This record gives sequence, structure tokens and C-alpha cells, in this order.
Amino acid sequence: MTPARDKFPVVTKRDRIKGVRDAWFNQYFKDGKWCINSYRNAEKTYHDLGKLDLGTCSEDDVFEVIGNHSWTYLKCDCCQKEVDKVVLVRGFAFDEYGPMELCHLCACMILKAFSK
Ligand SMILES: [Zn+2]
Repeated sequence: MTPARDKFPVVTKRDRIKGVRDAWFNQYFKDGKWCINSYRNAEKTYHDLGKLDLGTCSEDDVFEVIGNHSWTYLKCDCCQKEVDKVVLVRGFAFDEYGPMELCHLCACMILKAFSK
């Protein structure tokens, strides 16, 4: 049987912060060149992210470089609250937009719904 953590990975805000530079690269570096980002110089932003210690810096440090919290923000798709940790649930019709992200409380409520 697949371990639960493999089937339903848990992602923390720190994971998002740690991965922000790679995510930025994957978003804005295509076919060997930097894409045009109307808000930021994508290449400079990538290099500026490299100046941060992504293992210890704050979300606000990332905000200062990128200009918004969308790259590090974690929100539960069920209760819509900002949280520090979510579990990823894949296999929905809207997976093209990414997996559903559920907070611990909502995941527990789902589990409770199965018990009478
Ligand atoms: Zn929730």
C-alpha cells in the first residue's frame, strides 16, 4: 500500500518559500530565454531570490523581491483560510489548476464525516 504521505503530500509555507526560486525559473524561463514579465524583470528577480537564504528567510523577504505573496501563500481550498500547512489531494477534474489543498482541520472534518 502506498504510504499516506506519498499519496497525499503535505506542503508547508517553508516548502513554498524554499521552492520559490525554482518555481520562478520554471514559470519564466522557457526555451532557453527569460520570458517577458510586465511587472518585474524576471531574470533580475530570479537572481535577487538567489540572494535570500530560502531555508530561513521570511515570507515578507520573498514579498520584497517578487512584489506579492502569491508564490508563498497557502490557502485551504475548503475553508478558504490562510494556513501554514496543507495536504495535496489530486485526482479531481480541475487538476489542471493543481491539486486541491486542504488544511489539517478540514482534512480531519472529512475523516470525521466517515464515522458515525
Ligand atoms: Zn480548511
